[in-house]
Amino acid sequence: MIEEILPNLYRVEIPLPASPLKWLNSYIVRGRDRFLMIDTGFNRDECLNAMSASLQKLGVDLTRTDFFITHLHSDHMGLLGKIAGDKARVLFNEREARRIYAQHAGVDHWQKILDVYIANGFTAESARTSLERHPAHRYGLKREIDFTIVKDGDRIDVGDFHFRCVATPGHSPGHTSLYDAEKKILIAGDHILFDITPNITYWVDMEDSLDRYLASLERVSALDVEIVLTGHRRLVHDLSGRVRELQEHHRARLDEVLAALGDGEKNILQTAPHIRWNISARTWEEFPVQQKWFAFGETMAHVKHLEGKGKVRGHNRSGRITYSLA
Ligand SMILES: [Zn+2]
Repeated sequence: MIEEILPNLYRVEIPLPASPLKWLNSYIVRGRDRFLMIDTGFNRDECLNAMSASLQKLGVDLTRTDFFITHLHSDHMGLLGKIAGDKARVLFNEREARRIYAQHAGVDHWQKILDVYIANGFTAESARTSLERHPAHRYGLKREIDFTIVKDGDRIDVGDFHFRCVATPGHSPGHTSLYDAEKKILIAGDHILFDITPNITYWVDMEDSLDRYLASLERVSALDVEIVLTGHRRLVHDLSGRVRELQEHHRARLDEVLAALGDGEKNILQTAPHIRWNISARTWEEFPVQQKWFAFGETMAHVKHLEGKGKVRGHNRSGRITYSLA
């Protein structure tokens, strides 16, 4: 599916089979002699086929296409390796570029995450199953890319569009959005989503991700924006209203964590079932293991935020970590 958002700016829907996100919004900007594509889809045939069909309809020439990737998740950058031409510039934030270079050099971030999750109550067996099924492993970027690093405030000009990079860390450590002040559009990746809330998870290399996320929400809410071009599902037309809803969502979730810990000391796995999750499973036991993994990470981000604020305290007993109210 292709939607013309503005002259020379298109939204292309890339299906994400079996993902609750349903589809990725890839954006294509037609410049004078080159195109810019923002985000790509998973590295899998269903995405490649949908992308190829749309590019053909739009007359996009991949040998004259550059890329901007909002963040490292595989539904945004996995397909890049299949579609980026040899001379394509791939604009990407430094923090996540370093992480990807390190991965290609053999550094395993996953082992660290696995260790943290297990210390916080996730069983070794389900942790391993989750990792095997994790989209990053199955549909991630397989080819090495030489990124062109962009920083907060950098300008990207394509045809009539004049974008400014806006660092919006939180959903991921280096997440970056694009803002065109004249057109009043914000290409927001997974920083702002409508009808679902962006997953804010624990990162071994980002302290208090929720704190960073809430600060990034404040930051974009000050921008003059008519349309937020989201990374998934529907677009947002009321940015400040949506920001308030997202802030409220996290406040409520923090209260749920406080209530759960007020009821007695718990590890993260024991805390997670006390949070209301927007998923079709009726009980925590019915959660597919992959969704448990995401819910676990989200719970941990909220607990760590409360710990940072001095409201909860962690206890480490021979490598097993629990939390109680401070
Ligand atoms: Zn993402």
